[in-house]
Amino acid sequence: MKNFIYDMHTHIFPQKIAEKAVSSIGSFYGLSMSRGGFSEDLIESGAKVGVEKFLVCSTATTPLQVTAINSFVAGEVKKHLEFIGFGTMHPGFENIGDEVDRIVDIGLVGIKLHPDFQKFAIDDAEAYPIYEAAEGRLPILFHTGDKRYSYSNPERILKILKDFPNLTCICAHLGGYSEWDKVAALKGYLGNPNIYFDTSSSIRFLDPKTSVDIIRAHGVEHVFWGTDYPMEQHTVERDNLMALELTDKEKQMIFRDNAVKFIGDIERRLKKN
Ligand SMILES: [Zn+2]
Repeated sequence: MKNFIYDMHTHIFPQKIAEKAVSSIGSFYGLSMSRGGFSEDLIESGAKVGVEKFLVCSTATTPLQVTAINSFVAGEVKKHLEFIGFGTMHPGFENIGDEVDRIVDIGLVGIKLHPDFQKFAIDDAEAYPIYEAAEGRLPILFHTGDKRYSYSNPERILKILKDFPNLTCICAHLGGYSEWDKVAALKGYLGNPNIYFDTSSSIRFLDPKTSVDIIRAHGVEHVFWGTDYPMEQHTVERDNLMALELTDKEKQMIFRDNAVKFIGDIERRLKKN
């Protein structure tokens, strides 16, 4: 089979800590995890549905982990041509600007933040240096939404976009995990041109019509497909998108075309600077 899908949301860990890392994410969400959480296993799972590229990332839960995780992800990207790497950052990190420069130097093309794991609110002043360093340069993939916490509340995204109008955000999980009603009601959020969504860990929790409504209300051209690997099997997430009442063209945009354009634009922008 020809590989044609971009998986825009996956997590990898060094193999020796993968099992522990994966089980702690599973207990955070009260969900069973489907896969192993390391590069070779990711590639094997993706091959079942024809994934051509994987956006890989990992989250630093303390400032001390930031540089090691960035170096690890960059190393995996060098080893696996099918990987697109996003770095990590932490609001408590001392030299945010320097590390963001290094993120670019070592070939990573974005930053992933998980406010609920990292225990900061998206619009906390202490996170602003990250947005300053990333604006106009690197997109930020935010975990958004968790009704148990307010750190990653989607409303906070709109606040930072007021202060950083050239920041590009990917708001994971259709804009707000477990808070999809809030997403739909939040004025100025759906359809915001600075905001992209991914479909990871969301379609499987929603009725099909709600997924389609959110995707179309936001704009199909601003939606990527993602599995949240190792949370879910590639075959399952592929089937979840396929089952939605979207046109073939819309599915092709979400599975591939939007991501090709998005990543291409970032890479061109980074090369120019
Ligand atoms: Zn994630």
